[in-house]
Amino acid sequence: MYFRNEVKEIRELWKGIRDKWDSFWIGDEYDNSKKHLSQSDKRFLLYGNFISGIFIVALVLLIIGFNNLRVSHQNMDDMKLIMEMTKSYMGSATEDEYDKIVQTIRNDLVFSDYSKGLQKYAKYIPNASEKCHTCKGSSAAQAILVSLNTGNSYDLDLIGKETEEELGGVKVAFGYDEISQTRIRMIKSPKRKEGSVEIERGSGIVSLHRMKSLFCDRCIEDILKAIEGQEMEEFVIFDTEKIIFYPIKHGDKIRIENDMLEVAYKNGDCEIEITFVDRAK
Ligand SMILES: [Zn+2]
Repeated sequence: MYFRNEVKEIRELWKGIRDKWDSFWIGDEYDNSKKHLSQSDKRFLLYGNFISGIFIVALVLLIIGFNNLRVSHQNMDDMKLIMEMTKSYMGSATEDEYDKIVQTIRNDLVFSDYSKGLQKYAKYIPNASEKCHTCKGSSAAQAILVSLNTGNSYDLDLIGKETEEELGGVKVAFGYDEISQTRIRMIKSPKRKEGSVEIERGSGIVSLHRMKSLFCDRCIEDILKAIEGQEMEEFVIFDTEKIIFYPIKHGDKIRIENDMLEVAYKNGDCEIEITFVDRAK
């Protein structure tokens, strides 16, 4: 009973809506007695609103498109200006000035930008390394100091595979990285079971391009994670057995197998003291 009443009410409501709708569309454009809007007026209003809606959407799209075009044009103009400026500087520079300008561009444009996030830039440079200097390196030592600009490594192990007779004497090694202008001096005395590495620092520049030609992408990712934001970014200590990279951080003590490496910075330069730690102890 209740349900029937519901259906009746809905039917009446629907009939009411249809009556209103039909009377709205009565063809009365020639009937002067009618005071309300004629059918053609209603149609005109409905279609008119639809057309103006479309027109507004099109206009908005056009404005957005025009703005994008304006911005990219502005960027192109800025880029052109920078290129022209660089060209003018380079063209008018003398030999000495040229070096200075190159240095400035390197420091301001390359290095300052790189320091914001080497990892971010690493993704966009293709890898050109044939044989990775760290994970596929030929060093017999377990602890090595690696120059990221040259790929050169310096054995930090105090006692390697030498026999007892070979342990006498002092081992000396030198190195130079021309990109970061860093000098390396290493003295080791296996007999006294001690040694040290002095890293005389220069500009501190790290070339990601050089890294991409020296190390594999996996190593680069691990190296960058280790060094980024550290005091020294141009060198890293590497455990060749465990494949772990360590940053060269002031006050750090790194134990790799039988070697204890103690890092200390003095006046901007760095010294790594190596002492022998017996595995049994
Ligand atoms: Zn590698």
